[in-house]
Amino acid sequence: MSPTDPLAPEPADAVIAAPLLTARGIRKSFGDVEVLKSIDLTVPRGDVVALIGPSGSGKTTVLRSLNGLEVPEAGTVEFSGGNVVDFSKAPSKRQLASLRDRSAMVFQQFNLFPHRTVLENVIEGPVQVQKRPKAEAIADARVLLERVGLGAKADAYPFELSGGQQQRVGIVRALALKPQLLLFDEPTSALDPELVGDVLDVIRELATEGWTMVLVTHELAFASHVADTIVFMDGGVVVESGPPTEVLQNPREARTKQFLHRLL
Ligand code: ADP
Repeated sequence: MSPTDPLAPEPADAVIAAPLLTARGIRKSFGDVEVLKSIDLTVPRGDVVALIGPSGSGKTTVLRSLNGLEVPEAGTVEFSGGNVVDFSKAPSKRQLASLRDRSAMVFQQFNLFPHRTVLENVIEGPVQVQKRPKAEAIADARVLLERVGLGAKADAYPFELSGGQQQRVGIVRALALKPQLLLFDEPTSALDPELVGDVLDVIRELATEGWTMVLVTHELAFASHVADTIVFMDGGVVVESGPPTEVLQNPREARTKQFLHRLL
């Protein structure tokens, strides 16, 4: 894959052995309720980490904390080669922006701008936020749309697309930012069952290409195939984490067993 390919992940370099992202002691409350109780998370470069667990266990809040969409009260987030963002010291807007520059989020509800075309949605971040030349952003966007089978939909509006197509645009929009880390927040849970497969195929392909990602998902079979690490959360804590063969097939903790048992 050429370095100019907009789908190319970060090149390998001397710090490849260091994790891309390290989060330590993340705490977050909404009102009186502490929804994250000191979360640690390590994301090795090129790995896929899947967050699983019951609804309300804090998975989405972890994901949003990693890129500053939520601001935790305590804990640190550090990208390899970057500064440590320490949430206990009220990070500046600039520090939060530095987190956002590293990662891009794919949302459950797609979050596309309804009055903009597919192409306009994709180039919005690169042009408006990253100040990249528009012609370059358009050229990259067309390559990416082609890659997910939506080359012919560049001028369509979101309402003219199926949910699965809209989510593929959501993924392209994230890729167009050329992030180091992709964050997926239950990317298929708003889709009709017959549309889930196409979106999972795109995510699987990105994993194969070496993208680093953190994925909140209820699709356990998919997570089992695609993830290097499964993190099981319950009640705002990480109950256990490890490779799918351990956490999904041979869980140590009673809470994990119970959760998996309920899904069988
Ligand atoms: P999950 O992704 O595991 O379903 P979430 O991270 O979405 O869990 O939510 C964890 C808890 O935090 C839930 O009890 C949820 O209701 C609460 N919560 C999430 N976001 C907010 C918010 N913006 N305001 C108040 N409570 C919230």
